[in-house]
Amino acid sequence: MIWYRPMLRSNRSLIAVFLTFLAAGCGSLMDQLEDPAVNAFCKAPADQRGSFIGRVQGYPLEVVVDSAFSESERLEIRNALQQWNLISLGISRQDVFRIRYDDARKLRAIDPTDCSLEFGDEDTFFIVREDNSTHWEKTLHLGSNIPGATFRCKQFGRAIRQIVYLYPKLIQARQLGSVALHEFGHSLGLDHSCQMDSDRADYRGCQSLPSDHDYRRAVMYPVIMTGPKGSYEIKEDPVANDKLRAACVIDPV
Ligand SMILES: [Zn+2]
Repeated sequence: MIWYRPMLRSNRSLIAVFLTFLAAGCGSLMDQLEDPAVNAFCKAPADQRGSFIGRVQGYPLEVVVDSAFSESERLEIRNALQQWNLISLGISRQDVFRIRYDDARKLRAIDPTDCSLEFGDEDTFFIVREDNSTHWEKTLHLGSNIPGATFRCKQFGRAIRQIVYLYPKLIQARQLGSVALHEFGHSLGLDHSCQMDSDRADYRGCQSLPSDHDYRRAVMYPVIMTGPKGSYEIKEDPVANDKLRAACVIDPV
């Protein structure tokens, strides 16, 4: 999910958008049966060892893109998927995402925190175009400062079902790809590059980061700035830290 917030200095019209995910469990889980959230090849630094939310069952994942997205929005989404595929090719020589288009109308009304609903499976998930503020606020419990959210259901530490919602009206059109890129990182099992809370030994807090820090520049940083034309933030290129962490959830060949 991504959020917005006002910028204090030179440009008062800019607001920050926060990106996040929401996890929902399925039944009670025994700790000893939980799969670790990272693979044995993970080289994430100590202060990011806690920045993972559960791997998927396997690749490639089929991403079903809501046919309600416009041509230009689809292009932004396609490019975002391709960025993660390029990273994956370097790690595992295979794509992590495949793409297909379909009608997602019925998914615009559901509550994805109810994991008994069948809104996808371990191989396939939808990316849905949201345009209904009531569904966004009353059912998904998201604010107008959050333009994208990933909902995941897990079992034994692995994602068994997930769904991504994007609300294009809450950001500039050119930012949709940046938001999609971030949400697809959640789909792979990455949490944010830093956490909004205070520092933890295994999970760095965002507030203590210098502005040029790699965790701050990462596409998985939880906030993106939005505002009038020409002044908003675009993040379409994963940085070294995004790639390093991707290698924790994508197994090498
Ligand atoms: Zn996020």
